[in-house]
This record gives sequence, C-alpha cells and structure tokens, in this order.
Amino acid sequence: MRALHHFHGGIHPPSHKTQSTQLGIAVAPLPSKLIVPFHQHAGEAAKPVVQAGDHVLKGQLIGLPDGFISSAVHAPTSGTIAAIGMQPVAHPSGLPNLCATLIPDGREQWVQRNAVDYLNTSPAELQQTLRMAGVVGLGGAAFPTDIKLRIGKQKINTLILNAAECEPYITCDDMLMRERAAEIVKGAEMLRFMVDAGVVLIGIEDNKPEAIAAMQQAVTDSGMPFEVVTIPTIYPGGGAKQLIRVLTGLEVPSGKLPTDIGVQCFNIATTYSVYRALAHGEPLHSRVVTVTGNVRQARNYEALIGTPIDGLVALSEILPDCNGYIMGGPMMGIPLPTAQVPVVKATNCVIAASDMLFPPPPPALPCIRCTRCVEVCPADLQPQDLYWYAKARDFGKAQAYSLFDCIECGACSYVCPSHIPLVQYFRFAKSEIHAREKEKQSADSARERHEYRLHRIEREKQEKAEKLAAKERAAQAAKSAVEHSDEGVTK
Ligand code: SF4
Ligand code: SF4
Repeated sequence: MRALHHFHGGIHPPSHKTQSTQLGIAVAPLPSKLIVPFHQHAGEAAKPVVQAGDHVLKGQLIGLPDGFISSAVHAPTSGTIAAIGMQPVAHPSGLPNLCATLIPDGREQWVQRNAVDYLNTSPAELQQTLRMAGVVGLGGAAFPTDIKLRIGKQKINTLILNAAECEPYITCDDMLMRERAAEIVKGAEMLRFMVDAGVVLIGIEDNKPEAIAAMQQAVTDSGMPFEVVTIPTIYPGGGAKQLIRVLTGLEVPSGKLPTDIGVQCFNIATTYSVYRALAHGEPLHSRVVTVTGNVRQARNYEALIGTPIDGLVALSEILPDCNGYIMGGPMMGIPLPTAQVPVVKATNCVIAASDMLFPPPPPALPCIRCTRCVEVCPADLQPQDLYWYAKARDFGKAQAYSLFDCIECGACSYVCPSHIPLVQYFRFAKSEIHAREKEKQSADSARERHEYRLHRIEREKQEKAEKLAAKERAAQAAKSAVEHSDEGVTK
C-alpha cells in the first residue's frame, strides 16, 4: 500500500454531496437554442469560422484556435447558426463575450468522425488532434490539454489523474467514474503513452467508495499497472500541488510547474474527453454537470455545451426562495450574472442558492491576528499579512509574500472569525497586478514605437541631407568640368 503524505492546513466543510448522487447521470434534453462562446478556455479566444445563416453538423468546427494557448470550439448539435454576437457568459466580470447562437434541427447529425490509432501517431500529431478537438481541463480551469502535453525535454515520471473532487456539492467526477470507469482508464492509457510516464496514480477521496470500487475494477480489467489511491477527504485536497504532495511527498516549488519535478496531472473528466476524442474522433461538445442546492431533485446531467443554465436547472425543479446561481462549488465558484448564460466546458456544477443555504455573511470586523487563516492555508502562506498588503494596495509587498502561490481556495475566509472575505482581497490584488503589468507592457511598447518613429524620422532626415549633399557635389563637379572645358576652348 502506498504511503501517503500530508499538505499543510486544509478544512472539513460539510460535503453536501449525497443529494446529487442518488440517481445516475441523465442526458439533458436538446434545448431549443444553444449559445456557444468562442472563449471557453484559458488563453486566446477561438476565431469564428462560420457565419449567421450557415447550417452546421454536430461536432463541426465553428471556432479555430487562435494563438499558442487556445482551443477549438465545435457545434454541439446540428442546426443553423442564427447569430454571431455578444452575449452574457459565466465570467466573474459579468461582461458579455462573443458567442454563436445555434438553433438545433433536432436531427443530431454528426460530421465525419475519425478515430486515431494513437499508438502509431507522433506526440506532436496527437497534441494537434486534441487542440482541434477542443479538449481542455474540465476540473474548472479549462487549460488546453495539448499545452499540458507539450513537455519538451522534461521527463515525466509520474502521471496523476485527479479524481479528488474535494469541493462541497460537486459530484460530476464521482458519477462519471461510477458509470464510465473503463473509458476513463482507456483515456489514462492514452495520456500515459503521450507523456511516457512510468507510474500512473489515480487519486480519489475516501468519500467516494462507489467510484473507488468502479475504478479499481476497471484498472484490474485493463491489466494496466495503474494504482487507484484512496486519499483522505480534506479541502482543498484536489488542488494539483496538494494532490501531488499527498500522493508522492514531492513539493512543487513556488513559481514552478509540476512538470519541473517530473509530474503531470489531469482531471478525470478531461481524461474521459481525451478518450472520446482519440478513440471516437469526437470533439468536446458536452459534459457532465452537477445541478444541486435549492432544487427538488439534485442530479448530474450530461448537457451539451451551450445549454442555457435556466433550462438545465429547471430539470431539477427549483424550489422557492432561490436567489441566484453559483457556477462551481461554494468555495471557489462564481455567482452567475444571469441564469440565461450557457453551460461551458468549465461548468462542473450549478448550485441554486438561497439565503438558507448560504446566509449573507455578517459585516467584516477588524483582524484580531488569531492566525487561524495561517493554520488552514494549504499553500503555507500568511493570509493575514497578504490581506493587510492587498487592502493597503501595497502590491509589491503582497507579491513578496507569495501572493501568486495563493490558489484562491477560500479556506482562510471560511475560518476567519472576523468574517473578512480574504480571498476576495487576494483576487482583487492579483487582478490589479495583472492590469498594471498589462498597462506597463502597452506603455513600454508605445514608448518603443515612439522612439522608433523618432529614430526613423532622424534617419530619413540624414538620408535626405546626404542625398542633397551628394546632388550638390555632383552639380558642383559638373559645373567645374564645364568651366575647365570652356577654359580649354578659350585657350
Ligand atoms: S483568521 Fe481572520 S482574524 Fe484571524 S488572523 Fe486571519 S484574517 Fe485575522
Ligand atoms: S485562499 Fe489563498 S491564502 Fe487563503 S487559504 Fe487558500 S491558498 Fe491560502
């Protein structure tokens, strides 16, 4: 049995998971309209390659990856593109984003799908296939999977499949493992092949016994030397650095990536999507979403990307007093600006909120330096100091106190007896630093452009003066040649 390790801190919030695991995954009905954003992943938005009026097939490419970190976007069903335009999306800013509105024709007619013989395909081609299949991390960050597979010369010793699903309420990965374990293990074989890892560990928290049993059976049936490891339930045990620590004892140093210490991690639902993309030629066009909270029947649904969230939660029957929706879990999720926003690749859970489930926090009081936030911080930070610097807008100091090692898990806010929304201060400080860096970059490039322009004007001036001088010298030479020849004639 594998010896497990511990990470610093962590908390045990009520899990609220059993409500949504009483029934199996249901396929959500085809909605009358799908709204598909072109920016559903980390990096640059995909570039639309269809226009209003086009008829598309299910799985047809509608957005081309644009830039190194980007991913493709596909039509989730067959139908007609009614519009390409700005629509509200699930984003903390609440700002609209470019989306395709697709009216389904009800036929679910697929494009041609081609399976890939991955064992006889180069890593570069497999990465390109996954990029064009729109496969991104489904654990919430939506980072393009092909980028995580571009590991260059680094040697990956251990591949970790993250099935911890540590955040309360969310059960989509749990249900996926219970119902589709064999496919997940095949996806793990593909990922192992692509990163050439010697060891494959599948980390699952001990509050998911059915998923653990299903995965163990699938691994045994596959004959692969993969290890299903039961880990203690503690939040945020599903953070990549925390899971690596628990499973291997290794520490990812500040500012470094898991690949720097020979480890790579993929979420379990992402692994399933890799399998669908390579074994069936299916782009990422749907996902399992937990619908829970203030609803009559919490459940997991397999929903097409672009499904409006109001229609999806209605399947679970919203109870009175619902006062909004959260996408993700209660610790790291974001409140939705409106329930009309669509399901995107990062939508692992939608919680119907109410005052009873999430009572409004009491007003924040001054910090009493109790250090409870320090005790629970899984990144070993000093949240009370970070709070002080973020509040004082001393961002340089906040960075010096490793602000960017904060994984925004919210454990510090959860335990703070003064009810200080610490994580909100940290998000604010990070976004301010990013905005200032962006401003500085554009000021630097504007200054460079200005300096280049001055240099060009000066150079053109000089060239002009040199040309004029050369012209004058030539005229002078011609004049004196004529004078000399005149003198010769006179003589
Ligand atoms: S838990 Fe709250 S009150 Fe205690 S030290 Fe941290 S920020 Fe201050
Ligand atoms: S939100 Fe950041 S500072 Fe707070 S406990 Fe989590 S990692 Fe630590």
